[in-house]
Order: sequence, then C-alpha cells, then structure tokens
Amino acid sequence: MTAQILDGASVAKSIKEAVAAEVAELAPRGLRPGLAAVLVGYDQASQIYVSSKVKTCGQLGLYSEKIELPDTTTTAELLALVNDLNRREEIDGILVQLPLPRQVDSTAVLDAVDPAKDVDGFHPVSLGRLLLNEPGLRPCTPAGIMEMLDHYQVEMKGKRAVVLGRSRIVGLPMSLLLLHRHATVTICHSRTEDLPAVTRQADILIAAIGRMGMVDAGYVKPGAVVVDVGMNRVTTREDLERFYGDDAKRRAAFEKNGSTLIGDVNPREVAEVAGWLTPVPGGVGPLTIAMLMKNTLTAMKRRRMPQAG
Ligand code: NDP
Repeated sequence: MTAQILDGASVAKSIKEAVAAEVAELAPRGLRPGLAAVLVGYDQASQIYVSSKVKTCGQLGLYSEKIELPDTTTTAELLALVNDLNRREEIDGILVQLPLPRQVDSTAVLDAVDPAKDVDGFHPVSLGRLLLNEPGLRPCTPAGIMEMLDHYQVEMKGKRAVVLGRSRIVGLPMSLLLLHRHATVTICHSRTEDLPAVTRQADILIAAIGRMGMVDAGYVKPGAVVVDVGMNRVTTREDLERFYGDDAKRRAAFEKNGSTLIGDVNPREVAEVAGWLTPVPGGVGPLTIAMLMKNTLTAMKRRRMPQAG
C-alpha cells in the first residue's frame, strides 16, 4: 500500500484565492486588511519566514509592513512599538516573529498584542477562547491542518486522534481543535511512555515534535491519516541515505543546497503503512502562511466591520 497524498499546498492555494477574492471585493469600500510583521535581530530562518509572509500579503492584495529592529532592542522598546501598532487603525494583524533575543521578555511582548489583532493566535485570550470553543483567532498551523482535513473530508467525530507534541504553537491548539470536532484525543510529549504503542491507536496522527524522521512504520496504524508538521534539515549523507535512499530528486536537492528538508515522519516507511500522508515540503508549511492571511482578513472584518458578523 502507498499512502495517498494530503496536498497541503493545493489546499493553501484555494485558501489564498478565497482571501484574495474577498480582499478585492472590499477594496472599493476603502477596506484593506493590514499586517505588521516585527522582526528583531538577524535570524536567517526568521528573515525567510517574514519575507515570505510579507510577499504573500502583496500577492493577495493585503497591506503589510515589515518592521526590523536591531538585536539590542529592549523589552520596553518592543512594548512601545506593539502599543503603537495596537492603536493604528489600518493595522489588523500584528505578528512578532519568534524567537526574540534573549534580553527580551517574550511573554510580556506577546501578551501586549491586542487580542483583536492577534493573528498568530498565541495570546492567552485567543488560547482561552480556543479552549472554550468560542470564536477567536486560532493559531495558523493547526487551523490550516483542520482546513486540510476538512478539504479531504477526513472524519474526526468519534475517531482516535493522537497529537505528538504539546507546544503552544502547534500541539496544544491542535489537540483542542480536534477535541472540539469530537475526536477522542491523546496528547503525547517527551515524557510519554511507550510512544509507538500510543500512536499506533491513532486514526489521525499529528506529528509535531521537531525530531527528524522519528515517526517510523512502527508508530502508525495501517490506513491512518498522518499529518507531518515537522520541519527539519537533513545535513549528512548518512541521514540522506537512511531517509531517502536513491530518491534522485532529494539527492539533487542535497547536492545543490547541502541539505534537504524532512519532517518528523520517516516518509518512505510511513507511506507504506498510512492511508494518507502530508509531504514535506508542500504539506503543512504552505497552510500556515495561507491561514495567517485568512486570520488577518478575519481580524479586519471583526474589528472594522462588526455588523458583518
Ligand atoms: P517545540 O519544540 O515547541 O515542541 C516540541 C514538542 O514535541 C514538545 O511538546 C516536546 O515535548 C515534544 N517532543 C520533543 N521530542 C520528543 C520525543 N522524542 N518524543 C515525544 N515528544 C517529543 O516545537 P513546535 O511545536 O514549535 O514545532 C514542532 C515541529 O513543527 C518543528 O519541527 C517545527 O519546525 C515544526 N513547525 C512547522 C510549522 C509549519 O508551518 N510547517 C509551523 C510550526 C512548527 P515536551 O513538551 O515534553 O518537551
């Protein structure tokens, strides 16, 4: 058996097209969703993430602002900036790219974001609303995964879902979203005993641990829906061989860039057992950015056109 592909990239494309269409419809009324992305210090991965978020805003017709600050920025300076963005009418979403430099109190900064503009969905108010299943802005990665599962009409009600990882960004909100859709949810983490015995019960398995290729065939129930959130880099030939064997495309990528991407799932092994599997890249990654755009539009509608519901 070879698992069918859950094509996150194509679901992300549809989400972005729907956002762009709505943005175009609102433009004649003088309404344009605006996103401010705050980047502190020079972190190469963060630079890439923020640039692609800003670029996507442009493609879909959203206004965006990239605010770059030196790595000596203090908590007080960041709080002043966030307060200013909170007050600005044309800014609907505020994104503070993590990680922040060590001297900055990240919690204080994230908590200062107006929950109405919390497009990342990390604010305690947003997470509280998620916990209570009240309307609010949901963290982009798990919200995108839900859109993908819905697109493929994956039944969640009554099914066993196992979420590997309990982070505030992915694992925890993912578990709550699945629970609200009436899945029977188990959350696993680094202290879980006999992990494969737990994950093998999953009809839906979400892997969000940041451990390259750790979820192998022994973790997966035959026919399960497996969503691979992990984004890790294969940097040695030994790992390239182990995970991708003679896969010519991967070998070429590795030779060209000195590395290639891999998720938390061992792709070749799990494809033989699972019913459905997300690819890496092209699975969960594109959904995250698409949902950030959707959240920014939603935040604008809730704040600036409350009568629209
Ligand atoms: P965190 O490091 O914040 O959390 C990792 C979680 O996995 C923790 O709960 C940790 O447990 C658990 N964990 C770590 N190692 C093991 C293990 N050996 N066995 C069982 N559980 C383990 O990571 P994130 O949630 O932020 O991200 C997870 C992965 O998803 C990363 O690869 C990240 O790059 C990727 N990611 C991808 C995104 C995308 O758009 N595709 C977006 C966000 C993240 P404990 O709590 O006990 O420490």
